[in-house]
Amino acid sequence: MGLTRDFFIQLSQNQLLNKGAKKWGLKLGAQSVVAGTNIDEMIVSVKELNAHGISATIDNLGEFVYEKSEAVEAKEQILTVLDAIHEHGVDAHISLKPTQLGLDIDYDFCLDNLKEIVDRAYGYGIFINFDMEDYGHLHPSFDLIDELSAAYNNVGTVIQAYFYESEENIEKYKDYRLRIVKGAYKEPEHLAYQDKKDIDRNYIKLIEYHLLHGKFTSIATHDHHVINHVKAFVKKHDIPTDKFEFQMLYGFRRDLQLELAKEGYNFCTYVPFGSDWYGYFMRRLAERPQNLTLVGKQVFNKKTNTLIGIGAGAFILGRMSKRK
Ligand SMILES: Cc1cc2nc3c(=O)[nH]c(=O)nc-3n(C[C@H](O)[C@H](O)[C@H](O)COP(=O)(O)OP(=O)(O)OC[C@H]3O[C@@H](n4cnc5c(N)ncnc54)[C@H](O)[C@@H]3O)c2cc1C
Repeated sequence: MGLTRDFFIQLSQNQLLNKGAKKWGLKLGAQSVVAGTNIDEMIVSVKELNAHGISATIDNLGEFVYEKSEAVEAKEQILTVLDAIHEHGVDAHISLKPTQLGLDIDYDFCLDNLKEIVDRAYGYGIFINFDMEDYGHLHPSFDLIDELSAAYNNVGTVIQAYFYESEENIEKYKDYRLRIVKGAYKEPEHLAYQDKKDIDRNYIKLIEYHLLHGKFTSIATHDHHVINHVKAFVKKHDIPTDKFEFQMLYGFRRDLQLELAKEGYNFCTYVPFGSDWYGYFMRRLAERPQNLTLVGKQVFNKKTNTLIGIGAGAFILGRMSKRK
């Protein structure tokens, strides 16, 4: 079986492996794309980025939260991260996933957790970005943002170019600071473009719209074709550099990250940290299996073989159940 996008997405959704990976510590090459398992390690990484003129958006990794106690723990951790950003005076904000704060448990419970976080961040003058997950969470996440932004102006979110409806959403949320991405999850044909060319075309269209009409645009991509297009577009339309930034993930295209910052563009690195690294890492492999070179020789150790084995089983079962 080839190591395809579907294969790694299936792996990313495997809760058994997710639980196991928390106990392993950073393995399989994850340490090159995850900035440590605790706040101290993460702060060191952020200070290094800041020294190069790069800001950070910090993701305290967490997935598969189905117990209220886990969501409360995630909230407490994020509050501690906010305190650490404030105390260390680093140039950073927060990225979080609503499911981590209990969206799959109860909407109002999740809203209360988020309120506490957004309120503390507001006091510190720190921005909170809501990452966008799969389609099932898209509209509930927008609802949370609508409710919170009635009282706070330090929230923003992500628009995923693969969804047909994103053109409408970007217009609706044009007064927000938005991160625009291609989209990382597997979505069905009736909701999302499947062809890379269609996604890329829509991606450019959405970026251009928000650059011209929106508040602040974070162009989050490792695609140098898109980056070069944006550079030419902002020049042509006299869009000032304080209206946008480029974003990339920690550990990816480091040379290009430094180069863009040196050229004078605002640059922000997405810095994930924590013991819950597994799903995040598998989604990165799904996007670009060549990233497996990050894993290198470690692919052939015992744990990875177990992982690939269980993953292959999950993949086959997933396919069989889809065929039914
Ligand atoms: C900061 C950030 C935040 C994100 N947040 C979200 C989110 O909230 N929700 C969500 O669904 N998705 C999110 N994503 C993921 C995003 O949706 C894409 O899945 C992911 O970024 C891959 O698409 P791409 O635009 O980077 O380029 P791709 O389409 O993967 O690659 C295009 C081309 O770029 C070049 N390239 C790409 N990567 C590399 C590399 N590592 N080295 C060398 N060349 C490379 C290659 O030429 C490749 O063909 C985020 C991504 C980033 C960077």
